[in-house]
Amino acid sequence: MSFEHFGLEAEILRAINEQGYDSPTPIQAKAIPLVRQGHDLMAGAQTGTGKTAGFVLPMLQHLATQPRRGKGKAVRALVLTPTRELAAQVGDSVRDYGRHLRLKSAVIFGGVNIRPQMNKLRDGVDVLVATPGRLLDHAGQGTVDLSQIEIFVLDEADRMLDMGFIHDIRRVISLLPAKDQRQNLLFSATFSADIRKLANTLLTNPQLVEV
Ligand code: AMP
Repeated sequence: MSFEHFGLEAEILRAINEQGYDSPTPIQAKAIPLVRQGHDLMAGAQTGTGKTAGFVLPMLQHLATQPRRGKGKAVRALVLTPTRELAAQVGDSVRDYGRHLRLKSAVIFGGVNIRPQMNKLRDGVDVLVATPGRLLDHAGQGTVDLSQIEIFVLDEADRMLDMGFIHDIRRVISLLPAKDQRQNLLFSATFSADIRKLANTLLTNPQLVEV
């Protein structure tokens, strides 16, 4: 199978070629068509499987081809990650795969000065990759608008719960549009009872994908 098969924009295919990817990994082959069809997803995938491109590529496709739903500069796609390292990696992927598109992205996490992040958000971003605590700081200060999110990704959900982020996650979810008004993608290496409970409150008729 090749990436051509997914019906992605030429600009996205060009970026994939430049990355040197020949063919989709199993999680990409399963997840990309389902996300393209607009389904919510419950995906079981470890780091190293190519899961990041599994959600970033169809997310970029949506943003590049669908008109912005909200007015103004509200964020269109949000990826929550447990750690700043993962946030930075996902942010790099968004930049790499989206380098031929006219989309703005930002990465925000704690432990660094909040001011530059505020300036970046004020300019408007299409894709925001964030850790929960710092995202809630911004929300509390009114420097980020999550009310128009079209795609919400929870990456490494099991690690988020292990790190005690459940209340922060629920608070973030409460700032998003109603769950049937957004597309929700949950990625987790394991499906514990707690993950399933979270999935029940987060996802609408999810497709289950495992590799
Ligand atoms: P991830 O599991 O998303 O952290 O990705 C693991 C590594 O696989 C990253 O270094 C990606 O650049 C790489 N990768 C992702 N998709 C592909 C692909 N289709 N072909 C080759 N490498 C890939």
